[in-house]
Amino acid sequence: MTCEFSLAHYRELLEAAKAGGYRFSGFDRAPQPGDLLLRHDVDLSLEAALALAEVEAGAGAWSTWFLMTRSNFYNLDSAAGVAAVARLRELGGRVAHHAVWPHVDLDDRFEPVVAWHNPDPEYMSAPVEGAVNVMTEPWFDPEHYRSDSNQRWRHGCPHEQLARGEFGWLQLLTHPEIWAYEGATMGETMRAFLDADRDARLELLRADRIDLE
Ligand SMILES: [Zn+2]
Ligand SMILES: [Zn+2]
Repeated sequence: MTCEFSLAHYRELLEAAKAGGYRFSGFDRAPQPGDLLLRHDVDLSLEAALALAEVEAGAGAWSTWFLMTRSNFYNLDSAAGVAAVARLRELGGRVAHHAVWPHVDLDDRFEPVVAWHNPDPEYMSAPVEGAVNVMTEPWFDPEHYRSDSNQRWRHGCPHEQLARGEFGWLQLLTHPEIWAYEGATMGETMRAFLDADRDARLELLRADRIDLE
C-alpha cells in the first residue's frame, strides 16, 4: 500500500480504521475510547468535498464538514453551494463552520461547531461563545490528533496505526482538495485543482450565456 494522497488511499484509510475497530463520531459529545472524529476543513472546493463524501458513504463512514462562509474560492450561497450542503447531509455527513477570524457566521446551516481557518496561536484554542471550538479539550489533544496540512503528515500517514487500533481515539483532519486532486506535492495538487477550477468556471460562464467564441 502506498501512502499517496488519493481517493483510493483515503478509502484504504477508512478501511484501516474499521479494521482497527474504530467508530465514526462527531463533535456533539466528548470523544470516547474507540472514536474516530473525521474532520474536513473545506478551504477551496465543494466538488472535492463531494468526491470525498462519496468515498466515505461507500465505505460506511461519515464525517463532519467544516464549510466556509468567507471562502475566497467558493460561495455557499450559490446554487452549487446549496446543493453541495444538501448532498453532504444526504450522504450522512454533518455540517459545521470553518470560520475566518474574528467572524463566526453560525446559522441554521451549521451545527454549533467551529474550526478556525489558518488560526493564529492567540485564538486557536480559545473558547468560542455558543459553539464548540474543535481545537479545545476534550476534542483536541496533540496525542489524539493528526492532520494532512500542506500534504504532509507530521507523524506519517496514520493508516497503519489505525489498523492496529493504536490511538485510543483520534481527531483526523483532512482537506478534501489534497485527496481529490492529483499531485505529488501540495504545489502540484493545487495546480491540478486550479486547472479543474478553470474548466468548471468556463462552464459557469457558458451557463451565464457569456459568448466565449
Ligand atoms: Zn497510508
Ligand atoms: Zn482552512
